[in-house]
Amino acid sequence: MLSENVPENRCGYVVHPEDARAESLYGDMESERWHERNRAVCCWRNEWNGTGRCIWHAEGSEKSAVALQNARRDGPERLDGIRLSGVRVPASVGLSFAGCVLHGGDFSDADLRGTNFADADLTDADFRNADLRKARFENADLYHTDLGNANFRHANLDNADLSHAAAENARFLRATLERADLFRSDFERADLRTASLVDVELHNAALGGATLRRADLRRANLYDADLREADLRDANLEDGSLDKTDLRNVDLRNARLYRADLSEARIDSDTEFGTTVAYEERTDLDGWDVSPTDAAVWTYLRLRNLHEAHGLTVRGRQYQTKADQIRHE
Ligand SMILES: [Zn+2]
Repeated sequence: MLSENVPENRCGYVVHPEDARAESLYGDMESERWHERNRAVCCWRNEWNGTGRCIWHAEGSEKSAVALQNARRDGPERLDGIRLSGVRVPASVGLSFAGCVLHGGDFSDADLRGTNFADADLTDADFRNADLRKARFENADLYHTDLGNANFRHANLDNADLSHAAAENARFLRATLERADLFRSDFERADLRTASLVDVELHNAALGGATLRRADLRRANLYDADLREADLRDANLEDGSLDKTDLRNVDLRNARLYRADLSEARIDSDTEFGTTVAYEERTDLDGWDVSPTDAAVWTYLRLRNLHEAHGLTVRGRQYQTKADQIRHE
């Protein structure tokens, strides 16, 4: 259906790559992927409020929460190119886009606290400066989204695809991103304090200057990730892969590193592991069949190897001494 044949009382919106920040940013492969999954469909919803477009595709933020909620059909629907920039929908409304196609949507500066986006297709969407506290994104496709400065406090992003997403300065306090895919994402200076990142995929991710204090990164894959100047104090990296991870100028004091693969990690004299590892203070070690003393010795010996491999022999010897001391206590 071509848009020139659309009756006056219909929306007639057709999503274009240039609306969806796709074309200029994509390489050939991604461009192909875009056209494959976005066969142009003309929106046949009723025109709203003299705008010439339906309530979802009209520009402007003068859309009431009640009007939006009333316009939502039950169940998933195709709403690609949705325009919700600057709208305010209180969590009490219970707005849900679960399973919807919201490709290329504009949610920038919106207040969508508690909104349900589970299983939604949000590829290329714009969430900059949005308030998404307690929002739900389980299994959502957030490939190549812009999440800069957005607030995801207490949000659920378990199993979400965040590969190639940009989330500079975004906040994820107490958010959960378990098993999420952050391959080649940009989370520079993001605030991930206390976030749950268990089993997360961070291969090639940019996390420079990010705050990961007390974050749970057990079994996370940080292969070739850039964490320069990140704050990982009190973080749990047990059983994680730090293979080729850039840890220069990273603060890892009191981080839990038992069984983490540090063999090919990159450090410098500004990388800080502290003089005492986390396990010396503990009486039990949840999830492991070893004593905290065994975990402490294991960690000291790995830290010795890592420092020696980077020519930091004085520190390496200090960790060897610590291991010897607690082994003979
Ligand atoms: Zn429309």
